[in-house]
Amino acid sequence: MCKHILNAQVSVRAPCCKKWFDCPQCHEDVSDHELGKTTEMVFACKKCKKVFRKDVGQFEESDEYCPNCDNHFIIEAKEPEGPKMMLQFEGATQDMLRDERERPRHQQQNAEIMSRLGFR
Ligand SMILES: [Zn+2]
Ligand SMILES: [Zn+2]
Ligand SMILES: [Zn+2]
Repeated sequence: MCKHILNAQVSVRAPCCKKWFDCPQCHEDVSDHELGKTTEMVFACKKCKKVFRKDVGQFEESDEYCPNCDNHFIIEAKEPEGPKMMLQFEGATQDMLRDERERPRHQQQNAEIMSRLGFR
């Protein structure tokens, strides 16, 4: 369980070591290397347990919601929710759903969303 984002709604797959973390800080705590950079990040929603990919270079407000269940997964850290069970994510394969919804508005600043995800 992530102690940095207590109510994290997603896990993120580190592009460098292909392991799942709740936030970049968790990666830093257990890894001996820098978190790799990527423009397409792989997330796993903890609500519907589906895996999806996001192009973080084109991240905008509607992209803060899970494409499968509309769970708002980019949130401010708040209260702990109590003990969590270990989750098994389904669909972490090559044919993951690619979120390709229409993007009617201008692309948001990559740096802003990356920092909200905890990247520096
Ligand atoms: Zn790594
Ligand atoms: Zn963490
Ligand atoms: Zn979901």
